[in-house]
Amino acid sequence: MNPVEPQKVLICDDDPINRQLLAELLKPDYTVLLAKNGEQALERAARLMPDLLLLDVVMPDMNGFDVLRRLRADPATAQLAVIFISGLDRPEDEANGLKLGAADYIAKPFNATVVMARVALHLQMVRQRRMLERLANVDGLTELANRRRFDEVYAQEWSRAQRSGTPLSIALLDIDAFKQYNDHYGHPAGDRALRAVARAARKAMRRPADLAARYGGEELVLILPETGADEARGVVDGLCAALAELQLAHAASSVAPVLTVSVGGATLGTHGAESAAALFEAADNHLYRAKQAGRNRVVWR
Ligand code: GH3
Ligand code: MG
Ligand code: MG
Repeated sequence: MNPVEPQKVLICDDDPINRQLLAELLKPDYTVLLAKNGEQALERAARLMPDLLLLDVVMPDMNGFDVLRRLRADPATAQLAVIFISGLDRPEDEANGLKLGAADYIAKPFNATVVMARVALHLQMVRQRRMLERLANVDGLTELANRRRFDEVYAQEWSRAQRSGTPLSIALLDIDAFKQYNDHYGHPAGDRALRAVARAARKAMRRPADLAARYGGEELVLILPETGADEARGVVDGLCAALAELQLAHAASSVAPVLTVSVGGATLGTHGAESAAALFEAADNHLYRAKQAGRNRVVWR
């Protein structure tokens, strides 16, 4: 997340004067989005991904509590931080709102300074939560998904493929003669080359569910859900072609004068793999064979 980009606050209130008041208050510091009823709030929350929702409770059609229940039920908006701004000021109302999972509850008529302070506090917490998620899931050097994230996504995609009967392909990619690259050009140059390979891998992913991750060291792994062997090979060939185009010099390689990779792939359905581990092992065996056969190649069966 870019720290200089203003955070987005969605305001949902059926009263135009309240919407206006809150919007004027928040506009100098945040990107303000507006919704005049629950349906609009749900639609905008899912589509515009705000960082915070200021939500009125008493509204015709759908009240704020119901809006929050529905937000929580949808994985896309389940994490959204919500502050109720409500005319209902009994302690039970506040307790109900917080029990439903609101971050905070502010009674109307609200005090502008207090609203600003609470909004700032919750947006700060949103930033911190995002940073922690990032640290937990993203590899710092390549900015690809890390091993932890890979394990999680691979297990999910494996189950999904089992349930739906759709193919699932994975590919393990290992840079050739990378030890020599480091020895010859230095470790910082090795880091840059690894980042370039990671960028090419990320660019080669076409669908939202495709994932390129750093498995460890100079080894990357691609998860390609709902992708058969031929199509997956096409993706990997495209990635190798993009890498070849970069022409990253590797004077110390016995394989080629440029940086190359070896890839082992496997597809659920064609390998009769009985477990996620077995499919991974098949890809790993194919990577080994690609190395044995001289490197700079893809082996899929
Ligand atoms: P092969 O063609 O068989 O894959 O040979 P290789 O030299 O690539 O393989 P080997 O496993 O012998 O060496 C991997 C090298 O990758 C050694 C290690 O220092 C380097 N490496 C792993 N992670 C990083 C990293 O984050 N940055 C840099 N610069 N080098 C790394
Ligand atoms: Mg290697
Ligand atoms: Mg290796």
